[in-house]
Amino acid sequence: MERQQVLIGDNLRLARVEGAIYFICACGQTLGSGDENFKDYCLVEESATASIGAGYKASDQGMADQVCFREFFCPSCGLRQATEIARVGDPYLSDIQPRL
Ligand SMILES: [Zn+2]
Repeated sequence: MERQQVLIGDNLRLARVEGAIYFICACGQTLGSGDENFKDYCLVEESATASIGAGYKASDQGMADQVCFREFFCPSCGLRQATEIARVGDPYLSDIQPRL
């Protein structure tokens, strides 16, 4: 039974369930506990930053090749939960520290 929850975005929330905190998609899929990175539980698509749009085309292709655009999707319903730009090979950025 959920007692407390916080919306993180349009499709993601943190909820306390029976004393533990979990990331939960709008579809109900659990995306890891609150002390983990929910991105580790998502399907990930990694592409060149130029794929974002015309404004993201770099003048230095060598520099552009060192970074990537990542999209994180719920493995159950396919909703996109997050995006990030990071260096190729770097771990997923952990940008949420829950405090419920
Ligand atoms: Zn979902």
